[in-house]
Amino acid sequence: MTDTTALTAHPIPPPATTVRSPARADAAVRTASALLLWAGLLLVTYWWVADGGIQDLGGWETGLTSVGRQTGLVASVLLLAQVALMARIPVLEHAFGQDRLAHLHRLVGFTSFNLMLAHVGLITWGYAAGDLGQVPRTFWDLTVDYPGILLALVGTLCLVLVAVTSARAARRRLRYESWHLLHLYAYVGVGLALPHQLWTGAQFMSSTARTVFWWAAWGSVVVAVLVWRVGLPVARNLRHDLRVEAVVPEGPGVVSVYLTGRRLDRFPAEAGQFFLWRFLGRPGWTRANPYSLSAAPDGRRLRITAQAVGDGSAALATLRPGGRVFVEGPYGRLSARARSRRKVALVGAGVGMAPIRALAAGLDYAPGEAVLVHRYRDQPLFAAEIAQLARDRGLRVLALPGRRRAPGSWTGGTTTGPASDLDALRTWIPDIAERDVYLCGPAAWADLVRADLQLAGLPPERLHLETFGW
Ligand SMILES: Cc1cc2nc3c(=O)[nH]c(=O)nc-3n(C[C@H](O)[C@H](O)[C@H](O)COP(=O)(O)OP(=O)(O)OC[C@H]3O[C@@H](n4cnc5c(N)ncnc54)[C@H](O)[C@@H]3O)c2cc1C
Repeated sequence: MTDTTALTAHPIPPPATTVRSPARADAAVRTASALLLWAGLLLVTYWWVADGGIQDLGGWETGLTSVGRQTGLVASVLLLAQVALMARIPVLEHAFGQDRLAHLHRLVGFTSFNLMLAHVGLITWGYAAGDLGQVPRTFWDLTVDYPGILLALVGTLCLVLVAVTSARAARRRLRYESWHLLHLYAYVGVGLALPHQLWTGAQFMSSTARTVFWWAAWGSVVVAVLVWRVGLPVARNLRHDLRVEAVVPEGPGVVSVYLTGRRLDRFPAEAGQFFLWRFLGRPGWTRANPYSLSAAPDGRRLRITAQAVGDGSAALATLRPGGRVFVEGPYGRLSARARSRRKVALVGAGVGMAPIRALAAGLDYAPGEAVLVHRYRDQPLFAAEIAQLARDRGLRVLALPGRRRAPGSWTGGTTTGPASDLDALRTWIPDIAERDVYLCGPAAWADLVRADLQLAGLPPERLHLETFGW
């Protein structure tokens, strides 16, 4: 552990003079993405209709094959969308944020997976002349006789593995790292599905327009993954060469890690965002852990603050100055980007205060426009820095210490006054519904706060939430 008294008084950068609010552009990107996906789905459906897909529904066998073909086409489009959603494409990351992208990825992924199973079943049944008894034999014949089908079968098994381990019950039993490693098999699954589409799917190659559509769709997803998941992080790390500068204790089991690097004035990070961090040259470096910036980037150094909850986070306390760091990011919409109002409320609990503390310094606000609600048990994190922000920038601070005052309550035991948390919220911040609210803390606590914010009239689009879960 390095004693860096000077560093603990982390300099607070001067406030920006304007509020950047690309909220409208982000909303336009969300709409355009949805339209693009629907256009793709409608186009393949149009081609299916043009190929007699609807007439084929008149016969039992032809109907099975026809529905099987259409489910396959829709599953393919969704499969590509699912990969694109997790390709870390900056414009999507900005517009949706990781939480929402992960949610959509899950929704699109399971829909695509179910349609893919329907595709395999219906096509085989159709080729078996609609006779269920013949399905196993037909399945075998298709697998060994048709080009690319064996590969597609292996790909399907990979996707089954990914889908099964992503079901909530299974996911709860797995360590994050195990689940993540298994999840990478999805790329193998998607890659192995391609050849059978090209070799046996007449729908794919029967016209120039279709050939262009499918190659463009596959090609752009592959390029997106290579550029944004691989190329950009490698280039960014080579350019900035991040190193550990110091590790500073913040409280029981909580440390801040300060990082320096080359040209950090060009490092694309905003207060409140998070990165995936790998601290190289020590055991377990292959595993990336997400941590939010706990100080607004000032062009000279970065800071994260982490609580020890397992091997990776506990080992941060033993990092040595000079150690190399590999990061992926920035990610997340818990930043000025999501803001649409001048007045903000920043609400944090425990180590969830890390991005909230960064936002309290990084957002632009006049005295009285920003209020910080700080929930903690015994020792507040960043107490001195928050007091300084209150003095220098007019940040209004509401401290909620102690054990929770009642079961199902999100405020502290020493909170006095109104009977319910909701009444307290309305009394403390009467104009809460008029603000942007940034909320970060344990998931169960954040759910309680979110429920009261909704009851207080806050529109959902003005709540910006991160809960540190997966
Ligand atoms: C967007 C985001 C921002 C975060 N910011 C902070 C922060 O600023 N400060 C802080 O103390 N903690 C933060 N966390 C939580 C932190 O990532 C985990 O506590 C840490 O990764 C635990 O790793 P471990 O090896 O110590 O423990 P493990 O025993 O490996 O994990 C303990 C739990 O941490 C979670 N976890 C582990 N690895 C990951 C991962 N790669 N992605 C998501 N969850 C994971 C899982 O729920 C796991 O069950 C953040 C999490 C997320 C998702």
